[in-house]
Amino acid sequence: MPQYTPPLRDMQFLLHEVLNATEELKLLPKHAEIDADTMNAVLEEAGKFAAEVTAPLNLSGDAEGCTLDKATHEVKAPQGFKEAYAQYVEGGWPALSCDPEYGGQGLPILLNQCMYEMLNSANQAWTMYPGLSHGAYEALHAHGTDEQKKTYLPKLTSGQWTGTMCLTEPHCGTDLGLLRSKAEPQADGTYKINGQKIFISAGEHDLAENIVHLVLARLPDAPQGSKGISLFVVPKFLVNADGSLGQRNGIFCSGLEHKMGIHGNATCQMVLEDAVGTLVGEPNKGLMAMFVMMNAARLGVGNQSLGLTEVAYQNAVAYAKDRIQMRALSGPKAPDKPADPIIVHPDVRKMLLTARAYAEGGRALSMYTALQLDKMLATDDEDERKDCEGEVALLTPIIKAFLTDNGWTATSACMQVFGGHGYIHETGMEQYVRDARINMIYEGTNTVQSLDLLGRKVLGDNGAKLKKFGKRIAEFVEEEGTDEAMQEFINPLADLGDKVTKLTQELGMKAFGNADEVGAAAVDYLRVVGHLCFAYFWARMAKVALQKQGSGDAFYTAKLHTARFYFAKLLPETATLIRTARAGLAPLMAMDEALF
Ligand SMILES: Cc1cc2nc3c(=O)[nH]c(=O)nc-3n(C[C@H](O)[C@H](O)[C@H](O)COP(=O)(O)OP(=O)(O)OC[C@H]3O[C@@H](n4cnc5c(N)ncnc54)[C@H](O)[C@@H]3O)c2cc1C
Repeated sequence: MPQYTPPLRDMQFLLHEVLNATEELKLLPKHAEIDADTMNAVLEEAGKFAAEVTAPLNLSGDAEGCTLDKATHEVKAPQGFKEAYAQYVEGGWPALSCDPEYGGQGLPILLNQCMYEMLNSANQAWTMYPGLSHGAYEALHAHGTDEQKKTYLPKLTSGQWTGTMCLTEPHCGTDLGLLRSKAEPQADGTYKINGQKIFISAGEHDLAENIVHLVLARLPDAPQGSKGISLFVVPKFLVNADGSLGQRNGIFCSGLEHKMGIHGNATCQMVLEDAVGTLVGEPNKGLMAMFVMMNAARLGVGNQSLGLTEVAYQNAVAYAKDRIQMRALSGPKAPDKPADPIIVHPDVRKMLLTARAYAEGGRALSMYTALQLDKMLATDDEDERKDCEGEVALLTPIIKAFLTDNGWTATSACMQVFGGHGYIHETGMEQYVRDARINMIYEGTNTVQSLDLLGRKVLGDNGAKLKKFGKRIAEFVEEEGTDEAMQEFINPLADLGDKVTKLTQELGMKAFGNADEVGAAAVDYLRVVGHLCFAYFWARMAKVALQKQGSGDAFYTAKLHTARFYFAKLLPETATLIRTARAGLAPLMAMDEALF
């Protein structure tokens, strides 16, 4: 069975030595009391929960899956999931970064980010039950009426109830403008909702006493397309005025999807039959309200792959040190044994270091973005709030797509380290690959993320957000440019920054001529900008590691080696990506559809 050790040292390195999180957070009135010891203690306990409570359920949950009782429409999660969730609730974990007004602990989102990384490493399928609840909490917190907040937020905060997001319908996934579910206004101010939803994660289960569905549907007079979509909150059990559970509502699970991975999470077909709901936000502005949840979920999906990359790496390293096969080409390295451990072979090291560099780079980018989110939500300086908002908007599609593409590569490489044993269920490695694959698809496919980045976030504002982020990089390059020891990191970072600027201008010009040029270049472009972000954070981490390498702490030595690997073996991929992005539309569209 796979093992998991929470990467607390690396999280502390980022918190205290790279991001200076305590000092940054203390500037915000809401977090003025935060201190490093509290943050470390929270992460240590969260790591213990992940490693001891949910990790042992990962393999068995995958083998068992969820079961639906078609007569009652009730779904049972795999054995142990319910008890683990009860422990999670009892420990107060759902409340970690929630608003104290609704019973939350008000701690930084940065800590929530780290906790969720560890939970995802331990058991992605289980983690989706509380993960989606947090998204529902955020959407209602931002757009709910006082009554809705009073009814739902305390229970979502405590974890007594969980949440879902019900967007997808059989004929509409990416293009939500096509959705057909209908909401009829009632005399009492509620709505009766009818329709069918598919692929709803955690749509039905036995972990919590109530499930709060956030449902997209159309009002009778709604305009066509995405401008006619409204958001409703539809609880599984209606809620009485005193907060107790009332009648069973008309929203049922009619089927469970049989799928490639995340078997422990119930992916539900949902039927709404005169389900009673209340409107969230304004009529026909549902997509805007839902975007709060979708953006949180996009960062959450990147975090899922970060977690899987880390745990796959840890297990592949342990295996590579233990498994003996063949001798090193340069002669025996373990002459006392009949063969050398496979970690002596260069390509095995390449696979391990790829996963490690992606995990540590992804962690730095994700934790940085979480800190910007904390600032965005808690600063009283309007300019700072806007800057943080812009940066989070820019980085969200990159985290979603770059980290999940990397997670797929990394989990697959780690499975490869196990040879044939990686393909066998018991080692747990093939499960990581299967679980990682969905992360590139849901919450907007990675193609859609790349269109969002290049089309909306970059070209949509004439590159303003990208320029701001680029300025941050340029300042760092300027500061470190004179340090001889930093040249190996600074030069390629500065070079890639220039190339991204040129590529962006070139694509902007092409898009003027034909908007399809954006679609032809966007996926490659996102990967190039993803590398720019990683190169920046790897250079920042290398700087600290260089300063501390005399300390004798092997952590810094390993960090420097991983940084050098990243710049030598992974970053150069950008040269090819820039060429393919430039190759443009013609090679894709020249062939007549009939010839496919
Ligand atoms: C396990 C699982 C869990 C899920 N959980 C949820 C959930 O909790 N709630 C929920 O509402 N949904 C959920 N989904 C649905 C998921 O978000 C959608 O599957 C996803 O958004 C893609 O939609 P689709 O499957 O309809 O694909 P389509 O939209 O049909 O896309 C098909 C292909 O066309 C591409 N494509 C589409 N438009 C464009 C374009 N303009 N340019 C280029 N390429 C394009 C896509 O990238 C994709 O490759 C889940 C799905 C799965 C499988």
